[in-house]
Amino acid sequence: MDWISENLDKAEELASCGLCDRCLGRMFGKLGTCMTNDVRGRMLRAAISENGKTAPAPEMCGLCENVFDLMDRFACAVAEGVNSVRSDNFLVGSRVEPEISDKEKALWERYGLENAEPIKTELNREIGKLALPMINRPVEFKNPQVVACIDTRFADVVLDIAPVFIAGRYLKYSREIPQTIWPCRVCKGKGCPRCHGTGKMYQTSVQEVIGDIALEMSGGEEHFFHGMGREDIDARMLGEGRPFVLEISRPRIRDIDLDDLERKANASDLAGFTRLHFVPRDSVQEYKCADPDKIYKARVKSDGKVNKERVIEVALSFKNAHIDQRTPRRVEHRRADLVRKREVRWVEAVMIGDDEFDLTLSTESGTYIKEFVSGDDGRTKPNFSDALGVQCLVQTLDVIAINYQEPTRD
Ligand SMILES: [Zn+2]
Ligand SMILES: [Zn+2]
Repeated sequence: MDWISENLDKAEELASCGLCDRCLGRMFGKLGTCMTNDVRGRMLRAAISENGKTAPAPEMCGLCENVFDLMDRFACAVAEGVNSVRSDNFLVGSRVEPEISDKEKALWERYGLENAEPIKTELNREIGKLALPMINRPVEFKNPQVVACIDTRFADVVLDIAPVFIAGRYLKYSREIPQTIWPCRVCKGKGCPRCHGTGKMYQTSVQEVIGDIALEMSGGEEHFFHGMGREDIDARMLGEGRPFVLEISRPRIRDIDLDDLERKANASDLAGFTRLHFVPRDSVQEYKCADPDKIYKARVKSDGKVNKERVIEVALSFKNAHIDQRTPRRVEHRRADLVRKREVRWVEAVMIGDDEFDLTLSTESGTYIKEFVSGDDGRTKPNFSDALGVQCLVQTLDVIAINYQEPTRD
């Protein structure tokens, strides 16, 4: 009972300010273990009357305005909210009127209360305790999948649902769709005559092919696509595919069947998907920061006949070649104009016709392949056309490998 007698003077003054048992007890919330603030408060009040003073509990608490009387209602609202979503865990949060928090802090300072607990902490814990039996899930403090946030002013519960992240690899078979949703340049997504009201420059995208299905399966709100780089719209993505993370916001069901998603998304002939698996949020950053080497296959047309041996010789001459690439004309309007140093690891050539050949190239991340082949009016130096002495143009481009090893997780 030490902590009570030590704090009796302070408790007397606080009780005379019109605090309820919970608020009185909470001012000493870190003292005396294994009891609620309610019990703490009643013990203090009993000690005060034993000491010959009267400090009855008020009808209306001057600090919390009897917000704790509403806890059953809050707990039901929390349970209803959390139960509308499928998750492995949950957490209760609350928003307390700033006037109440300010008043509380002023009391801590005035009476030098170093062992007080904030009202928010008590509300979260006590409502959580009441809600727990109605929710068949454990409480998770570190990374909760759902946070039921109570606004005590309106007895309102807002659900904060953590997004779900699905990683995998995609193939893009079409030269007519972009990787991600591309908003209309004119209306910026609102819908206009230019985009026939779709708000988009392209009817669909790799993102939408899988994202729309994932959204429907999860009951989520929106999807976001984080690719490990991207290819041009007119380039295909083949081979083992390109790593990506699909983010689904506010999913009502987070443990969707990824085999099923893969099967449904692969019904499209525009894009394909493999190796789908759930990843933590950190993966988005990991994927965005990776800059793996890539291997491309380019169908190239030369301005007139070329000699087969010469083409092969020029291709081999670019082994571990350093090139300077000034920002290409075609992306000039959206990228800073500067010169980037890139390494071409190796190039192989196979003749197709007198003025046509295939180049397979391995390059450092960020190399502009079309410009390396054409020279881009001297903006890329050295370049394939100059070395061959004949102007060449890439007809079609495919990415055939992304040199990346996904981290193994348990
Ligand atoms: Zn109170
Ligand atoms: Zn438009």
